[in-house]
Amino acid sequence: MMSRRPTIALLECSKSYWTLIGQCTQCGHCKKACESLTAADMTLGEIARALLEAERASTTPEELAANIGANPALVQAVRGCFLCTSCKNTCFAHNDVCDLIHAARVDFQRLGLIPRECWSSVLVDQEWDIFTAYRAVHGIYYQDLTRHRAWGEGPDGIPAATDCEVAFFPGCSLASYGPELTREIFATVEELGGKTTLIDSCCGSSLKSAGFYDRAEALCDRIAEEIRSSGARELVCVCPGCANAMRAALERNGLGHVEVIGLAAFLTAHGFTPKRELPDGPIFMSKSCSDRDGSCLEETCGLLGFEGQPPTIFNGCCGAGGAVSAFQPERQAAQADSKLSFAPDGSTVVTMCPTCTYTYAFRMMESPRAIANKHYAELLFESSFDWDTVFSNLNGMWYGEYGAWLAQVLG
Ligand code: SF4
Ligand code: SF4
Repeated sequence: MMSRRPTIALLECSKSYWTLIGQCTQCGHCKKACESLTAADMTLGEIARALLEAERASTTPEELAANIGANPALVQAVRGCFLCTSCKNTCFAHNDVCDLIHAARVDFQRLGLIPRECWSSVLVDQEWDIFTAYRAVHGIYYQDLTRHRAWGEGPDGIPAATDCEVAFFPGCSLASYGPELTREIFATVEELGGKTTLIDSCCGSSLKSAGFYDRAEALCDRIAEEIRSSGARELVCVCPGCANAMRAALERNGLGHVEVIGLAAFLTAHGFTPKRELPDGPIFMSKSCSDRDGSCLEETCGLLGFEGQPPTIFNGCCGAGGAVSAFQPERQAAQADSKLSFAPDGSTVVTMCPTCTYTYAFRMMESPRAIANKHYAELLFESSFDWDTVFSNLNGMWYGEYGAWLAQVLG
């Protein structure tokens, strides 16, 4: 009888699935720790096994896509993952959920199992994505701060700087939605650390969530080259997720001598004093999923003066992780609600990642509550996000003179 086993592997990332199966005892702890895995009734090991079984039952990519698509539990487990790593913390084998889900998303993307409308506006390695479009439509530019690039030509042109001390990486949400705050932080970083250049790119996390892992790494490699050409020996990141991605990219590109440091740690090292009093009322620190070892949280608490009196800490995802909102938007809202439900009226929730701040702000616009939502930088500097304006701008740009252009470049 002819074997149905394909001679060419249909799954690009089967090695990751075999590795996970080899390390999984099927204890079930991960499933119990996760609402999405519980809904799918699958452990991480079973996700890997189901993918390989679907491959064995298929002879063509189309057949494999149909077999995976016909398994709603598997689709739920892969596309419904926030990449929050709560399950990993319960796994005695420390199985890496991010490796597994990123690999599965790569295969889903190749097989056409993630619809284009889920990622077309967040291709952050292209000229236009939702962030660059927002900045262009609303006149947010940083040419004067992006010194590692040359601007203009001839006698009036400004050559690229190669003598920077520091590169500052605000991340896509802060650079787009908080331009005054971005500029204020930049000025402080330069004052404290010497000549600085702005890296105004995204770290590529949205590409990874959409199954474009290699493109995300290539984007970070390009940023690493920008840092090399700037001469900077220190990279200051606001978000722990950007710091993780750039640490790996710098290492990959032979730039391990460039120190990646969180903003709070950088400010502390330079004797910075916060420009604001702490807000009244209880403070709830929202730990970022990407702040795996809690160092960003700890450094921020230290800078804000919480050592002796630690504030309450939220763990778990804000709802933005893993682009789950593109698959099950109601789960992003439920996740944000679940975290914010711990904050009593009159308290302030303080986030580490500006995308978490955005996510809570969006949820509180939909469902107002009597709490304040601040990124940690807003407790340190005078400038703030103005979320009412941001959401009005975001909504408005799809209409009027830019609507057709946006639909064309992001559609
Ligand atoms: S990372 Fe979070 S959402 Fe994903 S499977 Fe683990 S616990 Fe569930
Ligand atoms: S917790 Fe770890 S070992 Fe247990 S089922 Fe999940 S992945 Fe496997």
